[in-house]
Amino acid sequence: MNFNIPEDIAEIINALKQFVNKVVIPLEEANHELLYNERNYYMEDGRRNPEVEALRRQVRKESAKAGFYTMFGDKELGGEEFGPLASLLVNEALGKNFPNRKLIEHVVIPSPFTNGLTPVLKGLNQALKDKFLEGIGSGEKTLCFGLTEPDAGSDVWGIKTRAVRDGNDWVINGTKQWISNAAYADYCLLFAVTNPELQAKRKGGITCFFVETKSEGFTVDSIIATMGSLGGDAAIINIDNLRIPNENIIGELDNGFTKAMNGINNGRLGMSGKCIGSAQWALKKAVEYSKIRRTFGKAIEEHQTIQNMLAECALDIYAARNMALHCAWKIENSTKTPTKEISMVKAYCTEMMGRVYDRAIQIHGGMGLSNELQLEEGYRMARLLRIPDGTSEIHRRTIARSLLKGDLSFQ
Ligand SMILES: Cc1cc2nc3c(=O)[nH]c(=O)nc-3n(C[C@H](O)[C@H](O)[C@H](O)COP(=O)(O)OP(=O)(O)OC[C@H]3O[C@@H](n4cnc5c(N)ncnc54)[C@H](O)[C@@H]3O)c2cc1C
Repeated sequence: MNFNIPEDIAEIINALKQFVNKVVIPLEEANHELLYNERNYYMEDGRRNPEVEALRRQVRKESAKAGFYTMFGDKELGGEEFGPLASLLVNEALGKNFPNRKLIEHVVIPSPFTNGLTPVLKGLNQALKDKFLEGIGSGEKTLCFGLTEPDAGSDVWGIKTRAVRDGNDWVINGTKQWISNAAYADYCLLFAVTNPELQAKRKGGITCFFVETKSEGFTVDSIIATMGSLGGDAAIINIDNLRIPNENIIGELDNGFTKAMNGINNGRLGMSGKCIGSAQWALKKAVEYSKIRRTFGKAIEEHQTIQNMLAECALDIYAARNMALHCAWKIENSTKTPTKEISMVKAYCTEMMGRVYDRAIQIHGGMGLSNELQLEEGYRMARLLRIPDGTSEIHRRTIARSLLKGDLSFQ
């Protein structure tokens, strides 16, 4: 294995940092009070302020023009098709240099596989591709990924949203919950049961539909405010006699889950990269603070307990970074998807970020809890990331199942 960052990826990272410094940071600074005061950032109903949304759109479009927003999209969709290693390293760089930023997170680069040029869109028919891809790729339009429901999260086979054929259309009824970006999205990749018998056998029966969110019968009921925020990104969708033409099926009828799993590798590596980068930023802050804060007549860096906490962070980050790099290498160099390793990386990196932020906050004492340093924001993000895209428990289930089936390899 070669642990040097490949030249093309290093160049992208440099260009991306320049882009963020030149385009995004000035915009953030000019709108600081709007972006970093939650009373301005969110409306009363928990939705983001339309002015915030306009800024997000502006950054998306600039990022698309510069080629960053679409870099992980497949070439056939108009992207650059950078793989898991790039996803890991680019997200690490963003997390390390620009963590917890409102106009960067899921804006400069879309959220993994649920927005932007997600590979799920490969299943669209050509007419719909011609009609919608340009807007999605340019950052003008966004998507949401409508799978989870009130009674079906980890156990996705339990969804109840039902699509019934009526002539050339499907009529869809149900409720979706925890759908990121739903309140702002132009389109939804909506999963519904089309064949209950197949679904009951867990062998299919679920179909993915491309839905325009302005369609009659598609309503965002409410935002779910999360983790001490006045609002949030995820929402509850009510689907009431929504009529969708048969041509809007993505991929094959009754085979929607294969679409749902497309692009998940890049996504999980990207999320892990963000955790690894952000944890490095938090550790750097903790090291710097430990040199300037004095107690009992000396800098706190001289207390062994503080040194131990710093060292524990380094142990965590080094382990996470190297397991993620190995996993990216494995994905890119083997014919079989290393499911066990991807699960280990997603679970470990998200949990690692929580531990590192927890210690960084502790080292900062009371200052660590203040909103000013944004350590608490990273801590909340770390806590949140252990749930979506497979909970830590579901990933452990996947790992254990591989072990029990005889996969005891760590190469
Ligand atoms: C911020 C956020 C954004 C999200 N965005 C989206 C989105 O855009 N689109 C979308 O479709 N969904 C989205 N989700 C939903 C997310 O995928 C689900 O929350 C997740 O799959 C867990 O489902 P659940 O919340 O219903 O928990 P449950 O599945 O009810 O799990 C409850 C608890 O039981 C554990 N558990 C469940 N089954 C097992 C098992 N077999 N073995 C051991 N433990 C088990 C879980 O790990 C968890 O601890 C989002 C969630 C969050 C929090």
